[in-house]
Order: sequence, then structure tokens, then C-alpha cells
Amino acid sequence: MTIVEVLKLSADYLQKHGSDSSRLDAELLLAHTLRMRRLDLYLKFDRSLSEAELSAYRGLVGRRAKGDPVAYLVGHKEFMGLDFEVTAAVLVPNPDTEVLVQRAVAIARESAGAFRVADIGTGSGCIAIAIAHYAPSTEVWATDVSGEALAVAGRNIAKHGLSARIHLERGDLMQPLAGKFDLVCANLPYVAAGTALPAEVTAQPAGALYAESGGAAVIDRFLDEAPARLGPGGRVLAELDPSVVQAVSQSAERNFAGHRVHRDINGRERVLEAWF
Ligand code: SAH
Repeated sequence: MTIVEVLKLSADYLQKHGSDSSRLDAELLLAHTLRMRRLDLYLKFDRSLSEAELSAYRGLVGRRAKGDPVAYLVGHKEFMGLDFEVTAAVLVPNPDTEVLVQRAVAIARESAGAFRVADIGTGSGCIAIAIAHYAPSTEVWATDVSGEALAVAGRNIAKHGLSARIHLERGDLMQPLAGKFDLVCANLPYVAAGTALPAEVTAQPAGALYAESGGAAVIDRFLDEAPARLGPGGRVLAELDPSVVQAVSQSAERNFAGHRVHRDINGRERVLEAWF
């Protein structure tokens, strides 16, 4: 079988098994199997696959059909135009989170001089790294409760050459950090227990997804802690979901002078911004 034939068959198969990005999934998995870039598949579309290649690819497609995220199968994921290592210890960087990062970069670029940023619940490190990469005046302190996640974040920071400007600390929310910040970002868990989710989401760490109080508990606690850690003019950006926007807005009302909610490209409420 040739590349083009294999892609067609496997994309159809993945679609029948519930992937809503079946063609892209098939291409990413095949490029990974053949150690090619995705676009090169089209330059070599009539190259035939060996038995060994086919068998390796079938294994990956089978796991994808059962719900494993493509990013875990290929070991990396693109976010904000940058490539991140991912393992099953971290949340897969999600395009929804680009809303928060774009706002963070805009805020950081408006300010003159050194700019101190915190990233709470850093996971793969994608938020901290994208901010540091696109806003060179920033120095970033990132935390997570998961030591395994911090190990992945550390490798991503080194890979992007940002070890001098991003510092990792293990612990609860902002507790391990000293000093005040110009911007505190967080993409913390906000899914309510019992929410029905696709297999590719439930395959990700429970500690990255779920929070008590209908999903709002961790963000609430974060919004209670954050004000004391902001310098003059400091701001908070927290990713959320429409399901928790009401509860989270109440915490923001209680803790800050002002706040607003940014929507994503689909019009969904996505990021809380709060200030004094
Ligand atoms: N910021 C990353 C990861 C988000 S997943 C991204 O946007 O892709 C949420 C992360 O928060 C997980 O890595 C989880 O381990 C961490 N986390 C959960 N509760 C936490 C807490 N109380 N303090 C610090 N980190 C926490």
C-alpha cells in the first residue's frame, strides 16, 4: 500500500471511531511513523510502506481509535507556533489557551522595562514558554503540584532556550513563589466531576482537569490568593469555561476592583482578566 492509500483508509477508520479531525490525525501519525514532516507525505504520496512500517502505523491508529490523544502518541504538540514535548503526565496544550497567551503577550509588550510574570499550573510549560518567547522583556515563574509535569516543563524550557528567564517551583498555587508580579496567569482545572467528556480528554491527567464546587474550586482559591501577590498595576488572567464563568466572576467581584471576560474565536467565554 502507498502513503495516499493508507491515509485514505485510516482517516475513514478514525472518523468512524469518533475522531473529528480524522484526516489530520492520520497524517500526523503516519508522518511520525515514517519520520517525515507532514507536508512531505504529499511529496511522496506514491511511496509504498514496508510491512514493519504498516504494522507500527496500525498500532498507533488503533490506540487513537480507542481515544489516546494524537499528541501522546507522537510525543509532541504545536502551540502558538512553537513545538512542545508532551507526555501523559501533562495536559495537551490546547488552541483554546492561545486566547490567554495572546492577551498576556499584549499586556507585557505594552509595559516598558522588566516584567514579572507568574504561570500557575504550568503543565507542559506552554503558557510560560510562549509568553517568554513572544515577550522578551518578561521573566516568568511557573508552578505546578505535579513533579512529573514539572519535569516535562523543564525539558520544554531548555529546548526553547529559555532556562535563564523561566523558573519552575513545585507547590500549591502561588505558595512556592516569592515577591510580587506584574501579571499572574493560570490555566487551572475547571471541569465539574461527572461531566461527560470525549475519551481523548479523559485520557489526560485527572489533576489537570477536575475541580470541586462544579469546577470552580481551584480558580476560586487562586483568585482569593492572587491580589496579595500583584504589584502596582498588576493583572490576573485565568482561563475558564462558560460552565464556571458565573462562579468565577463572583470571586473576581469579591477580590478585585474590576474584571472582564474575553471570548474565544467561537464566541465562548474563555479568559477572565482582573485588576485593581
Ligand atoms: N498550563 C498548562 C496546563 C494546564 S492543566 C496548559 O495550559 O496547557 C492544569 C495544571 O494545573 C496541571 O498541570 C495540574 O497539575 C496543575 N494544578 C492543579 N491544581 C493545582 C494547584 N492547586 N496548584 C498548582 N498547580 C495545580
